[in-house]
Amino acid sequence: MSAKEPRPNHQEELLDEALEESFPASDPASLVQPEGGISGPEDALQPGDALIVVDVQRDFCPGGALPIEDGDAVVPVLNRWIDRARALGIPVFASRDWHPKGHLSFKPQGGEWPVHCVQGTPGAEFHPDLVLSPDAAIVTKGDRTDRDQYSAFDSTGLAEALRKRGVTRVFVGGLAEDVCVRATALDAVKAGLKTHLITGATKPVTPAGGKAALQEMHRAGVVIS
Ligand SMILES: [Zn+2]
Repeated sequence: MSAKEPRPNHQEELLDEALEESFPASDPASLVQPEGGISGPEDALQPGDALIVVDVQRDFCPGGALPIEDGDAVVPVLNRWIDRARALGIPVFASRDWHPKGHLSFKPQGGEWPVHCVQGTPGAEFHPDLVLSPDAAIVTKGDRTDRDQYSAFDSTGLAEALRKRGVTRVFVGGLAEDVCVRATALDAVKAGLKTHLITGATKPVTPAGGKAALQEMHRAGVVIS
């Protein structure tokens, strides 16, 4: 048998390439473990962490206005993380896309996306199966009228809220991997936070977009876990 086995999939190959570039002599296993990383929140979460749940809303899930394939698959995974965070007293921040009617990001207004997550509509609600702890902080974004806000850090006060709680490391999951999760994770790094992407808790708008986002996040210093 050859020492170099065929790669199981292209995504791992891309990740390996990125790892080799960025961490030539380091221990890649500590960054990406064989089965998609850390086994779960039980091993990962500790004091000083926060969990950021990005835009797990009806409109981004199957049946919604801007559905992401298998978008609702992130819900049970995130529920485990939320549950563990709550048990440890670790803060949970849940962002929501919260657009005014006729938002500039909508196609009828010349924007890129179908009408979605309009304030106060059922589509803007969190997925009904997402079990947010009662003290979870809701981060509202997408309500600016001059531009869109993909990142949960964009004009929301999130960085300051995390600082006040003494947070130095964040775990990010939610929807969509190649849009708002990507932007949020990149901004978390910029805010000086050690940033982990929970790969089992995010889904992309397109597979190609997801791969590109994964590479970009990794290169920016996000731990793909
Ligand atoms: Zn939006």
